Amino acid sequence: MKGKILVIEDNEQNLYLVRFILERSGYEVFAAPEGRSGIEMASTLRPDLILLDIQLPGMDGYAVARNLRQNPDLVDTPIVAVTSYAMVGDREKVMEAGCDGYIEKPIDPDTFVSQIACHLPGGDRSRRKS
Ligand code: MN
Repeated sequence: MKGKILVIEDNEQNLYLVRFILERSGYEVFAAPEGRSGIEMASTLRPDLILLDIQLPGMDGYAVARNLRQNPDLVDTPIVAVTSYAMVGDREKVMEAGCDGYIEKPIDPDTFVSQIACHLPGGDRSRRKS
């Protein structure tokens, strides 16, 4: 197993695709459909990386990221935001909230794994976009 990835995503189809791609690549995938349960799962699971949808019901992804960063156990856990917002300034907002990276939807199955792997321990940080 390459690592545990927690996916916080409310859209079942997006989750299905992400899970398929990651499991095929050898990652263990855990999922939460909204922020509160995602935060709880993160603290017990201690994942190697968190994939965080920004558009979530209730608490949005920015709030979830800020909350995760307040947990001392999760300070160093990579958080990669996944968002369909294509607005100027989004990237800055995502980074300010404590995320390490940013992937735009629709995700590209051919590059998705490498976009994530560079944030994992041993990943090629030079490939980080930020
Ligand atoms: Mn969503």
